[in-house]
Amino acid sequence: MKKPNLGVLIKPVSHDCNMACDYCYYRPVSALYPDAQRPRMGLEVVDAVCEQYRALEPRETKIGWQGGEPTLMGLEFFRRTVEIEARHARPGDCFGNSLQTNGVALNDDWCRFLAANHFLVGLSVDGPPPMNAVRRFPNGKPAFETAMRGIALLKRHRVEFNVLVVISTANVDHPEEVFAFLRENDLHYSQFIPCTEPGQVAGAVSEHSITAAQYADFMTRLFEAWVANDEPSYYVRRIDNWLHQFFGLPPECCEYREDCSNLLTIEWNGDVYPCDFFVEERYRLGNVLGQTLEQMLGGATFRRFVREAERLPAMCEECEWLPYCHGGCYRHRIKLGIGPQGQPYLCEAKKRVFGHVFARLRQIKDGAAPSRLRDFLRKTEHEVAAGLWGPTGTARQAPAVARPAPTGGAPGRNDPCPCGSGRKYKHCCGKLVADHGRR
Ligand code: SF4
Ligand code: SF4
Repeated sequence: MKKPNLGVLIKPVSHDCNMACDYCYYRPVSALYPDAQRPRMGLEVVDAVCEQYRALEPRETKIGWQGGEPTLMGLEFFRRTVEIEARHARPGDCFGNSLQTNGVALNDDWCRFLAANHFLVGLSVDGPPPMNAVRRFPNGKPAFETAMRGIALLKRHRVEFNVLVVISTANVDHPEEVFAFLRENDLHYSQFIPCTEPGQVAGAVSEHSITAAQYADFMTRLFEAWVANDEPSYYVRRIDNWLHQFFGLPPECCEYREDCSNLLTIEWNGDVYPCDFFVEERYRLGNVLGQTLEQMLGGATFRRFVREAERLPAMCEECEWLPYCHGGCYRHRIKLGIGPQGQPYLCEAKKRVFGHVFARLRQIKDGAAPSRLRDFLRKTEHEVAAGLWGPTGTARQAPAVARPAPTGGAPGRNDPCPCGSGRKYKHCCGKLVADHGRR
C-alpha cells in the first residue's frame, strides 16, 4: 500500500507536560494510560515507526513531535532519533521533522540541534501578556516571559519556527492586538487554532472555548489586519489555505480537505490512532511493535473512522461552501454535536469567513488601488493559469517581500533543500507537518 500524503504525529511523552495550561486538549489522554506516571517513548518504537512509515512511500516524510511537551524526552532522545531516521531514509531523501513546544526547555544546545537538523519548530504563545494568561505553569505562574525567551533563542540560532496562537476567551476580542504583537516581535509565521473543547455538561463547551460567532469575528478582523499590513510575506496558515482555495488549489490543512485519512497519531508506547483528537480506546488501530502501519490503515477501525468522518449533515450537502469547507473538522461534528438547525459547531463562522475573505480577495485583485497584496494576487493568478503551480498546490512562489535569509545553520525557507530533492527547503524537509499543527 502507498500513502503519498500521510503525515505522522508522534507523542513521545503522551500528555505529560511541564506546564498546566487551562485549555489543554490533550490532558484527558492521561485516563487512557493510568499506570504511566511519566510515559516515555523507547527508541524501538521510533525505529518501527520510521521503517513502517517509509514503507508507505509518502511523497514527503513528515513527522510532527507533539505532546504534552515533547522536549521532556531530553535532547539525547532526539539525537538518537535523527540517527534512526537517517538509517531509514532513502538516498536523496530525508525525514522532515517539526516540533511543537512551549519553549520551557529551549537553550543553546537545543537550538543548535534543531537548527542543524532542520527541525521546524512551533512555539505556543497567544499574544501579549493578558491574552496569554491561560498559558501557565502548575504553580500558576504565567508563561509569557518563558515563551518570549524561547523565541529569542530560536531567532538567535536561526531555527525555522512559527508561533501557534490558540484563540480562546482570553484573546478572542483582540485580533488586531494579536496581529500587532506578531508584527512588533517580527514573527512572520503563525497559525491560529480555535479553542473548542467540550465542557463538563453534555452539549456545553469548556470555559475557555469560543463560539462560532466569536470565531467569525476574530478571523475576519484578523484577515483585515493582515490585508491592511499589505505584506503578503506574513504567513498566517489559515489565510494561506484560503489563498490556495481562492486560486482553485488544494489546501494543505486537513480541516479544509475532504477526508481524515492522511494523518496518524502514535502514542509513547507505539499505540496508533487516527488524528490526535481521537486518541481513545475505541479508535485504537493497533501498536507498531505488533502490527504495521499498513495493516492498521487497511483495518476495519481505521476504515470505519474515515467513513464516519466523511458522513456530513444534510445541511452541508446543499451548502454553497461545501467545496471549501467539507463540513469542517470531524471532531467538531462528533464531539460538539450538531446544532438545532442541523449545523456543525463552527458552521456560522465558516459561512461568514469564506464569504468575506473570497469577496475581499477578488475586490483587491481586480481593484484599481495599488498594493503589494494586489500585485501578489495578480502574479499568483497568472502563475496558476500558466500551470506553474503543482497539483498539490505547494509551489507557491517566494513571498513578495521575503524574510531575510538566515546565514549558516538551517537553510532559509526559500533555499534549496539540503536533502538534494531540488525543491525549496520550505516545500521539502522544512515543510511543517499537517500541523503544522492542523486544527
Ligand atoms: S459552511 Fe456549514 S453547512 Fe456549509 S459545508 Fe461548512 S459546515 Fe456544512
Ligand atoms: S483535525 Fe479534524 S479534519 Fe483533521 S484529521 Fe482530525 S478530525 Fe479530520
